[in-house]
Amino acid sequence: MAVFEFSPRLTEAAEKAMQLCREPFAELDRLAELNGQKVLKAFIDNRISDIHMKGTNGYGYGDDGRDKLDAVFAQILGAEDALVRHNFVNGTHAITTALFGILRGGDTLLSITGEPYDTIQGVINGDDIGSLKDFGVKYAQVDLLPDGMPDLDGIRAKAAGCKVAYIQRSRGYSLRPSFTIDIIGEMIEAVRSVNKDCIVMVDNCYGELVEEREPLAVGADLIIGSLIKNLGGGIAETGGYIAGNARAVELCAYRLTTPGTGKEVGASLDQLRGMYLGIFHAPEAVCAALKTSVFATALFEILGCECFPKYNEKRTDIIAALKLGGEQQLIAFCQGIQAGSPVDSFAAPEPWDMPGYDSKVIMAAGAFTMGSSVELSADAPLREPYAVWLQGGLTFPTGKTGIMLAAQSMMDKGLI
Ligand SMILES: *Cc1c(COP(=O)(O)O)cnc(C)c1O
Repeated sequence: MAVFEFSPRLTEAAEKAMQLCREPFAELDRLAELNGQKVLKAFIDNRISDIHMKGTNGYGYGDDGRDKLDAVFAQILGAEDALVRHNFVNGTHAITTALFGILRGGDTLLSITGEPYDTIQGVINGDDIGSLKDFGVKYAQVDLLPDGMPDLDGIRAKAAGCKVAYIQRSRGYSLRPSFTIDIIGEMIEAVRSVNKDCIVMVDNCYGELVEEREPLAVGADLIIGSLIKNLGGGIAETGGYIAGNARAVELCAYRLTTPGTGKEVGASLDQLRGMYLGIFHAPEAVCAALKTSVFATALFEILGCECFPKYNEKRTDIIAALKLGGEQQLIAFCQGIQAGSPVDSFAAPEPWDMPGYDSKVIMAAGAFTMGSSVELSADAPLREPYAVWLQGGLTFPTGKTGIMLAAQSMMDKGLI
């Protein structure tokens, strides 16, 4: 029985793609089981109870649910401490809080993975907006090598004397590879070989629970991310986290609230249950997103498109980029993803002039949480290399169907 109508050509290609997925999926199931166990153990060890989900109002003194949630995240991520708050408005805010928490006037911030993600650039170098530069923090950068890999010699040449070395794990909107935990470990070793006191900060967005270890296991001091990505499990309504060594997390908390009070204040309101349920569900949500991504890259490779990463490459984040070939292809793909979304399926996305971009961008997202990208979503700037960046999928059956509808939308218009 078929619920959706797919053409015989697409059905056949999808069956082939599922054959290719067999091995990668077995590995993903193994990972989800391991991470599921880690999450369950963190709940058990911290004696989580229904009272911890209730939340507080006012100043939020003695908010045990909030403090226990920090402990649960810390255990799962292999951190000494964590700061998990709905008050972080997005990932950029959590990263900004960490940068301002650690850096002081005169210090140098060194990005060792080239240009940081778009939204972080103004935080570092903006003019007269209260950026790090405005507060006298210096910035330096080690560019990636032409093949997109880190320049370890360049890192050793520049890391002496810097206060913070900054690593972005995920590709963002580029075709460079995302960096595995092993590679992050090599970068950190290069930093420490010339500067053992350097604080290493990792933008961990989209990478959480994709490998067995997090960057803290290979020597990072702080990892930071958003709760409407992996660790919110598609359930947390908003928020972000910072995790790592206890002193560094404390300094970040002093920046988020006030110097001296830090983690002691901040009412959790009605947000705790969603954050607890979200982290509990995160290993499965990440697994579903990865399966959706692996299926999409297998299918589109069969259909003749170059995909980054390839379906059988080791994963370290939930993002994939598919080079579809042209504007019409990108539009048809995104419209197909939108049509296959649980929310706003009836809307047809159009390319628009998004602030900060030098070309039109088309985006597809029909999500339960606005802007959530652990839910199936796609973004494509209409310019070279004519690639769509694809992420998320809360359940594999719905994620796979969304990808099929996107492919069918292209086929119906003769675009693939
Ligand atoms: C999503 C993301 C961020 C933070 O983005 P927000 O939209 O502010 O949550 C930062 N870095 C990378 C690489 C990201 O993917």
